[in-house]
Amino acid sequence: MEYSSQLEAKSAELSRTAHKLRDANEKLTQISLQKDAFLSQISHELRTPMTSIRAFSEILRDTDGLAVAEKTRYAAIIHDEAMRLTRLLNDLLDLSVLENGQVSLNVTEGMLVDVIDRASSTALTGTANPLKLRRNRAAERIAIRTDLDRLTQVFINLIANAQKYCEAHEPTLSISVHDVGGQVVVDLVDNGKGIPLHSQKMVFEKFARVSAEKAGGAGLGLAICREIMQRLGGNVTYLPGQEGGAFRVSLPLGLEIAAQ
Ligand code: ADP
Repeated sequence: MEYSSQLEAKSAELSRTAHKLRDANEKLTQISLQKDAFLSQISHELRTPMTSIRAFSEILRDTDGLAVAEKTRYAAIIHDEAMRLTRLLNDLLDLSVLENGQVSLNVTEGMLVDVIDRASSTALTGTANPLKLRRNRAAERIAIRTDLDRLTQVFINLIANAQKYCEAHEPTLSISVHDVGGQVVVDLVDNGKGIPLHSQKMVFEKFARVSAEKAGGAGLGLAICREIMQRLGGNVTYLPGQEGGAFRVSLPLGLEIAAQ
């Protein structure tokens, strides 16, 4: 009798182990599929600029008697595509460091308004028809303790996106800052077309783009923003219910409200 109950217990244990092995195997297959998809997306993103660099450099090398203006135009294309490749590789590297948790934060104290202003001037300098920025005054009295450079990077991405994708006649971005329940919330709302409801979550995924024909990047910017905000203990989400593009950045406790 005792022997048979021992046997039963062993058999139950074996079946649990078999279950665990099957689960682990399924997870490994899933990871391997994700890795394949990621590699194929990267190859695709790299191929486009590489193809045009090759084509235009061959024209420059093989065509006699090209006019100076043409040479300059082709050289400019090669330069732009090389810059695009550099940005892509930098973004991929940054994302991988963030995802692996290898990034060390440099936490210091500063004013939120300085972060927003620095990000705005970096994102908008040199752009034709720059966005008109509207900002409420609250940011001016909020002191924050976080990695200020990483937070600036998030705002640069969001403001540069508003500049890129807001196709309004007079592009405008409203940045409003509130402190609610020990959290600081920054809403960035532009007057463009915004993102359709079914894509609002997906845009934070790697390589996600709402519309392929728009002159955008590789679709890594918002994924990087999300990783950074999670590392900073906060979050970045799409803010539904607005007419234009709308993003909410929230920063956790540990922020201090400076004297007014
Ligand atoms: P990208 O490198 O393509 O700009 P992002 O991850 O920064 O990548 O953005 C992902 C996609 O989200 C963009 O390709 C664009 O379609 C959409 N998007 C981002 N910001 C806005 C915005 N303010 N208005 C409309 N669409 C936006």
